[in-house]
Amino acid sequence: MKCPSCLAENPDDSQYCAKCSFRLSKTDDSSSSATQTLKSAILKLETGSAFADRYQIIEELGRGGMGRVYKALDMELNEKIALKLLKPQIAADEDMIERFRNELKTARNVTHKNICRMYDLGKYKGNYYITMEYVPGEDLKSMLSMIGVLGPGKTVSIGIQICQGLLEAHKHGVVHRDLKPQNIMIDREGAIRIMDFGIARSLKSKGITGVGTMIGTPEYMSPEQAEGKEVDRRSDIYSLGIVLYEMATG
Ligand code: ADP
Ligand code: MG
Repeated sequence: MKCPSCLAENPDDSQYCAKCSFRLSKTDDSSSSATQTLKSAILKLETGSAFADRYQIIEELGRGGMGRVYKALDMELNEKIALKLLKPQIAADEDMIERFRNELKTARNVTHKNICRMYDLGKYKGNYYITMEYVPGEDLKSMLSMIGVLGPGKTVSIGIQICQGLLEAHKHGVVHRDLKPQNIMIDREGAIRIMDFGIARSLKSKGITGVGTMIGTPEYMSPEQAEGKEVDRRSDIYSLGIVLYEMATG
């Protein structure tokens, strides 16, 4: 079956899309929200167009479990930012948006050179979006798939920077919950930034049977998180361990 969200093909019995983790089974979705989802697949911001009377879309940067990410110019501040347009099935869930809002508020308190700065949650014509610092560079996942093993020097240099970012966030009580190479960006100088702090799994904390629980990749998840239990900073440290292992061994 075709994923209504990202259009990838999946086996007919799949519950979640293998590519974007969108829920494919229709057990508790009303048909109207399924229609909305279809519409959302089409909602796409065009290069050069203005959004929310403030942002000019420069290009699409990528797609993830939560929606599309664009590079945009904040015309108010004349500054480049990244804009994540949330999928309508997320925007439609008021509880989820409330969680999101709270997590974003906390995450905004964290300022550190190894953490991508979060700005705002906004709503425009029924679409929720998040703005954050635009981070140039390449993500660690693509880097690893291109060159395989990183070697001890790079592994240690990147590892230390991840630790420093985590330490600062944990001091503020912010847990990442989705630390993985896709969420670590590396610029040309080798400086890293952890992305999506605090927001990545606010949608997945509804308990193991809740909607959206299995969004994301389970490879980096701590056992307690996989079981749907309460998580704290130790779960991030578990994920860090797996990232280190992957860098060192490919
Ligand atoms: P995921 O982290 O699961 O890949 P995201 O929705 O967070 O999904 O991001 C999709 C892609 O958009 C990322 O892989 C990255 O290339 C890009 N991206 C996300 N946030 C930013 C940002 N703040 N600055 C630059 N690129 C970004
Ligand atoms: Mg991300």
